[in-house]
Amino acid sequence: MVEVNKETFIYSFAKDAEVAATVSSGSTVRLETYDAFTNQVTDEKSTYDAIDWASVNPATGPIYVEGAEPGDRLRVRIEKIELAPQGVMAVSPDLGVLGDEVESFETRVMEITEEGVQFNDAITIPLRKMIGVIGVAPKGEAVPCGTPGDHGGNMDNTKITEGATLYFPVEAPGALFALGDIHAAMGDGEVGVTGVEAAAHVTVTLSVEKKAVHLPWLEDEQSVSVISSGDSFQACVKRAVKELASHVRDHSSLSYHEAIMLLSASADVEVCQVVNPLLTVRMTISKDMLRQAGVGLLSEMR
Ligand code: CA
Repeated sequence: MVEVNKETFIYSFAKDAEVAATVSSGSTVRLETYDAFTNQVTDEKSTYDAIDWASVNPATGPIYVEGAEPGDRLRVRIEKIELAPQGVMAVSPDLGVLGDEVESFETRVMEITEEGVQFNDAITIPLRKMIGVIGVAPKGEAVPCGTPGDHGGNMDNTKITEGATLYFPVEAPGALFALGDIHAAMGDGEVGVTGVEAAAHVTVTLSVEKKAVHLPWLEDEQSVSVISSGDSFQACVKRAVKELASHVRDHSSLSYHEAIMLLSASADVEVCQVVNPLLTVRMTISKDMLRQAGVGLLSEMR
């Protein structure tokens, strides 16, 4: 298995990024990651000024996947997430939903075990391992790893976890895949601007498919989601619904109007994050509904 260590990382997804590793399509890769603070917060005495804020949200990579060309899609199966035994959280003035009410920068360091995250002596938060930043090089200009977009990036989507499969639109030769910002737990929305941020090792299988997607897609055991990021909730929802409704129309005998009705009756708009500062939402429909409509899953359309 190819191993990529955490010292080869990017702060922006970009077409001209220096490649960390080159793999063939179908390869399984294990990436070591820093936490979202690039491991700068080591204890609860950390101050805002002690952190180099230009050096946050690193993503390990990028990985050049042979054969990937613009117009293809990159299939990414999340095989395994191995967490470091310690996580950190922070609040800060001007960050998060209540940033205007937060008076000072404050951090917590928490032990992570199989039982969960030890928030304090009384509270154990169930583990909800997930990947915050994951994606490929975007179409135009470089995008900082802290920002989400059609290329993926900082989507902070709780469904991006072990067993899930993502599909990204390839915009650059080799796709230039990278990931980082692993969380031991995070609630939908990430309202305080951090999850339980932890260093990790993540194992993924990367495959090139000669078919297109326009936004990131996610498939897990139960359901299929289209993920959309932008600066307004309405615009994010519209793009995700349009991508999914068009797919249902194009791959079933349903009309566009019927596809819209099916989504309206059975699919859910769900919030990924509201703080990055763009928003990310996902439109989620059950695999059973797609099967009843005769729509094949992306994982069955290779
Ligand atoms: Ca994040």
